[in-house]
Amino acid sequence: MSNRCASINKILPFSCVDGPGNRLAIFLQGCNLRCKNCHNPYTMGICDNCGDCIPTCPQQALSLQNGVINWNSASCEQCDTCIQQCPRQSSPMTFTYTVDELMALTRKYAAFINGVTVSGGESTLQLPFLIDYFKAIKEAPDLKHLTCLIDSNGTLSLNGWQKIAPYMDGAMIDLKSWNEDTHIYLTGRGNQRIKESIKWLANNNLLTELRLLYIPEKTDYLENIELLSQFIHSLGESILIRINAFHQHGVYGEAGNWRSAQKQHIDIFSKELIKRNIFNIKTPDIYS
Ligand code: SF4
Ligand code: SF4
Repeated sequence: MSNRCASINKILPFSCVDGPGNRLAIFLQGCNLRCKNCHNPYTMGICDNCGDCIPTCPQQALSLQNGVINWNSASCEQCDTCIQQCPRQSSPMTFTYTVDELMALTRKYAAFINGVTVSGGESTLQLPFLIDYFKAIKEAPDLKHLTCLIDSNGTLSLNGWQKIAPYMDGAMIDLKSWNEDTHIYLTGRGNQRIKESIKWLANNNLLTELRLLYIPEKTDYLENIELLSQFIHSLGESILIRINAFHQHGVYGEAGNWRSAQKQHIDIFSKELIKRNIFNIKTPDIYS
């Protein structure tokens, strides 16, 4: 039994793109990176119940009740006006779940899924909830078939990974650039800690996949291909490298003017990795 709560932006009962197999995907609210290319910037902030979004809603679906923002999902038409207006890059359309409530939801779909993936935002910002949720799954005899994966930006400390490690089956981590300066430009923070997380997870057989997002003229993988390849080799032979292609569509701010990655960009990048004996590569199926 756990009454620990999490702020949740979205739950997909069945996802086939958030890890292997069919998965219950849970997207937690709040992120500690500020990626210019983020497709869901309204998952970054935590709502402070200021109420600024209430008059922007054309359906009158928002109100303040006892000082807390209330969203009437029945009236909502998903126009996204409120999240575009929020000054904190948050959303009034979030849910609060206790671990017990999320376990009840997990049981509802358990017969049809291979596992759960907790994503974000940045899922590890709500680490105590994550630990209690995964622990409850691992201790439940009827949920033994479910794997517990984390989709993370990798900024969690090694101390944090050590705490969740006994209850998780793996983590999928993004390395958004090789150089520290490029990473700060793209996300607002450096990548030293992310590289340390990736190494620690790989050493402990918990790195499910390493994700590399290719943004033409912005990411620096090709300029640093030797160092990047050495880093990947140091993680072990079996690590899956997933190359993702940046899509301009749906991105706000300056990144809305960046070029989308095309098939030739991804082909050149994956060929450079293959030349350096990195073969376990998954490339995207769809390009914009
Ligand atoms: S979602 Fe944003 S605008 Fe609306 S109450 Fe929360 S912080 Fe204020
Ligand atoms: S998305 Fe937001 S602004 Fe649009 S109808 Fe729903 S609550 Fe209102």
